[in-house]
Amino acid sequence: MQADITDKILELIRLTSTNLPSDVEERLRASVEKENPGSAARGALETILKNVELSRAQSTPICQDTGTPIFYVYYPEGEGWSTIKLRKQIRSAMEQATRLNYMRPNAVDAVYDKNSGNNLGGDDFPSIHFEEVEGDLLTIELMLKGGGCENVGAQYSLPDSRLGAGRDLGGVRKVVLDAVQRAQGQGCAPGILGVAIGGDRGSSYYKSKEVLFDKLGVRNKDPKLAELEERLTSEANTLGIGPMGFGGQTTVIDTKIEGMHRLPASFFVSVSYMCWAYRRRKMTVNGTEIQYE
Ligand code: SF4
Repeated sequence: MQADITDKILELIRLTSTNLPSDVEERLRASVEKENPGSAARGALETILKNVELSRAQSTPICQDTGTPIFYVYYPEGEGWSTIKLRKQIRSAMEQATRLNYMRPNAVDAVYDKNSGNNLGGDDFPSIHFEEVEGDLLTIELMLKGGGCENVGAQYSLPDSRLGAGRDLGGVRKVVLDAVQRAQGQGCAPGILGVAIGGDRGSSYYKSKEVLFDKLGVRNKDPKLAELEERLTSEANTLGIGPMGFGGQTTVIDTKIEGMHRLPASFFVSVSYMCWAYRRRKMTVNGTEIQYE
């Protein structure tokens, strides 16, 4: 019989909402040193880091917007995990996390403008993706994607005559920098860019979020894309937008790109902008052993 792991999923949600991953914190700390002493940019980063420490110590949300919960569940074939039961356990854990104030009630019915009060809304909130995998491990990944940074995400259809962007990596570079320029500080910079090249409109946006589950600094295996990732981060940091839009050197702390196949008629580039509150965690279940990262 399948184990009930609701309380373990609750811990995953608590950890994700209140404890910023160490790779993100390290990047933010390194960014402080790049900003001038006494500048608004440096002050913003120092305040962010103070907030990160307090949230961890007090087990309170890192940001008042606890974001859209996005789960990816990789369940092992033949190990008897029921996706129906897992979905129920995730939803129950989310309801409990909201009651315990690890999550702000964030699910608002868009037609009736009514908040459900428990972060559950229809079958789509929280967003849960299942994928069957080989091996024995059950892995659940969670990202909490802030609303402000989601608002400044963008999708482009190339060619784009306004930006002079053609259907090549040069065109991709132009539209991604345009998205950062248009976002200014409204995505709660410093941000992390998830970029998908190709796909259809839906799959492209999904992929641009999926790449954000990877650790900072992990480069695409394709050297052309890896080079573009580095270049975009460095060029975005010359735009002068800076932490929370206060100006400065630190606008983007990493860029992740994934290439996809596309129809001959379409060439989409999707940009998911993730704010500094880059909350993503993973739990693995191996028999009775649970690990969190
Ligand atoms: S975009 Fe991120 S940092 Fe800004 S308010 Fe939303 S969750 Fe918080």
